[in-house]
Amino acid sequence: MSAIHYPGASLKPHRDESLLNGHLWIFSGALQQPPRWVENGGVLDIKSATGKFVARGYYNANTDIAVRILTHDFEEDIDLEFLRRRIHSAVALREVFDPEQTNAYRLINSEGDGLPGLVVDRYADILVAQIHTAGMEQLRPLVIEALMQETGARGILLRNDGQSRRREGLQIEEPTIAAGEVPEQVQVRENGVSFFIDFWQGQKTGFFLDQRDKREALRKYTRGKRVLNCFSYTGGFSVYAALNKPPAQVTSVDISAPAIDAARQIFEMNGLDTSAHQFVVADVFDYLEEAHSQGELFDVVVLDPPAFAKSQGARTQALKAYRRLNMLGMQVLKPGGILLTCSCSGVVGMDDLLGSVSLSAQRLQRSVQLLESYTHGVDHPIHIAMPETAYLKSIFCRVQ
Ligand code: SAH
Repeated sequence: MSAIHYPGASLKPHRDESLLNGHLWIFSGALQQPPRWVENGGVLDIKSATGKFVARGYYNANTDIAVRILTHDFEEDIDLEFLRRRIHSAVALREVFDPEQTNAYRLINSEGDGLPGLVVDRYADILVAQIHTAGMEQLRPLVIEALMQETGARGILLRNDGQSRRREGLQIEEPTIAAGEVPEQVQVRENGVSFFIDFWQGQKTGFFLDQRDKREALRKYTRGKRVLNCFSYTGGFSVYAALNKPPAQVTSVDISAPAIDAARQIFEMNGLDTSAHQFVVADVFDYLEEAHSQGELFDVVVLDPPAFAKSQGARTQALKAYRRLNMLGMQVLKPGGILLTCSCSGVVGMDDLLGSVSLSAQRLQRSVQLLESYTHGVDHPIHIAMPETAYLKSIFCRVQ
């Protein structure tokens, strides 16, 4: 028996089907009426139109997703023990990483780890957490306690500065230490490559952990090659290429000067001679046009742009932008060169990305072979009933 009595809300007839399949969202239109006695972020029980318990989750009247499900088990209370069980299971999945090689990874991937609204990245012994929803915000003290108990972390930094919090009716906050001690930066390893992470000021939680497997996959194409890494951030792809034997000669381009500074330092940390590589602060579109007009050619081009479409409404515009980018990228690629192109827009599917590369190639009259395709790494699990939460698509192609 569940020890706590939760307020309830009923679904319209036949609206429990996707929930019974395991989906974790209920849209406001599926509820018979807005629940009473539940504040935003409060936990409630969802019942079918015939009054049967279906699931337990948290509510928000401000958002299209009215309820995010936490459990389908009537016996399971939403308390410290619940959070500990979910975190324990998430920690167990990450045991696939050999800490000697990789000690930076996503520890909690929101819905994918059964904790909607919570993202936690692990950088050595420091956790960086983001709370995206009002429901998770209400659980915040318990989440922090459970994380400390289950991970033995030295400290937890909260990065609640994402704009998505506004939609939930939450404040944007300065980065704050939620538990333990958190230094200025830490040094981590990813597939044996060293990085330092500025989790106080860096983008997102400080690093783009979702590209780990693509960085590793890129290595084999870059031995002794001339590589252009567009949207390089702190040089993730670049360092992997430069550490090859024989080393690649790498140009890293990003619009953010602090990111390019960090990339240079990360090259040095890995014992690389920065004078053998180029570090460019520029808009990638401008850079590629200029490079093409100068007749520059590379063996390998990486295109890992920020999300061009954050909503369904922005999709058409975004598809155009991907097409333009892929064309510009191909124009500076030698015949037989390798293109790694990515999209992290949720509303742009793998088919869209393939279509964009294919159209760009047609326009340039170049033929393309698809070599490898990827989504996220294993530390970004996706709930099987919610494929729409898989945002990242990456493909490796050879362009003749
Ligand atoms: N590939 C990186 C992550 C890229 S994230 C990695 O492996 O770590 C996207 C990056 O694009 C950010 O660093 C952002 O500063 C940069 N950016 C956004 N718009 C840009 C533009 N128009 N030109 C160049 N860089 C841009």
